[in-house]
Amino acid sequence: MSLVIVGSVAFDTIETPLVRKEKIIGGSCTFCALAASYFTRPGIVAVVGEDFPPETIAFLKKRRIDLRGLKIVPGGKTFHWQGRYGEDPNHRTTIRTDLNVFQDFRPEIPAAYKKADILFLANIDPDLQENIFLQVEKPKLTAMDTIGLWIESKPEALLRVLRKIDLFFANDEEVRMITGERNLIKAGQRLLSIGPSVLVLKKGEHGALVFSRDALFGIVAYPAETVVDPTGAGDTFAGGFLGYLDQVGRITPREIRRAVVYGSVMASFIIEDFGIERFKTLKPRDVQARYEVFKKLATF
Ligand code: AMP
Repeated sequence: MSLVIVGSVAFDTIETPLVRKEKIIGGSCTFCALAASYFTRPGIVAVVGEDFPPETIAFLKKRRIDLRGLKIVPGGKTFHWQGRYGEDPNHRTTIRTDLNVFQDFRPEIPAAYKKADILFLANIDPDLQENIFLQVEKPKLTAMDTIGLWIESKPEALLRVLRKIDLFFANDEEVRMITGERNLIKAGQRLLSIGPSVLVLKKGEHGALVFSRDALFGIVAYPAETVVDPTGAGDTFAGGFLGYLDQVGRITPREIRRAVVYGSVMASFIIEDFGIERFKTLKPRDVQARYEVFKKLATF
């Protein structure tokens, strides 16, 4: 099968109570594609400026990510996001967002990607997400992610995209914001009535719940002792999840359950270091070993 990811490739400035990292590599598309690259050869659609480091492009290529949809704007500056975490790593505040080359970006799906089997619309402006539907030929699975910024600023556009997609990745706060329902189970069910047939609800350190019309499935999170930088955990989860489905080539309830575990495995690694650093040393055998740990955790 084939997986195409549309999203941001970014510089992130991260502040934790102990450390500040200036302009390290981040972006929803970057995290997602790197995680997916452990299972398949994802293609990306994104934009960067001329200031984006060639060594990172070389790293993405080395991980066999298809970069035909990555646009480099001559003289442009790469999207920059700055976030701050408090003592509780589950809470972060966005300090600034510099759209830069993203400001005028209109994602264009290269001809080679138009027949993608799985399309993932990572967190970007929902108007851009909607436009991408017009450019692809009926994928087997369409999935999306979003953030509070779009739920608040573009609710109508977001609802239009939600009505079109098959699978929605969201955290508990986002589902509550969209549906206006506090009870998570009711909120999840209400979300399914909007459009998607599957909702993957990420609950951070509490694991994940999968809602579908006829079933509810849940797993615990990996019991991580150190969380260095949670940035990108959601995108990494989506990358592991969709990369696995692309690899097995079957989108069945059983494979969706396994995909949730692979998503959680990939996310559990990325939080162990800043930005995309952990991907530089992570081996496929590490991924498989942690998958086995998850199996043991859930067997009773
Ligand atoms: P996550 O921690 O999975 O929610 O994703 C964090 C990533 O999202 C960071 O690496 C940011 O560069 C990226 N990001 C933050 N805000 C935006 C935005 N408005 N549009 C696109 N990407 C964003």
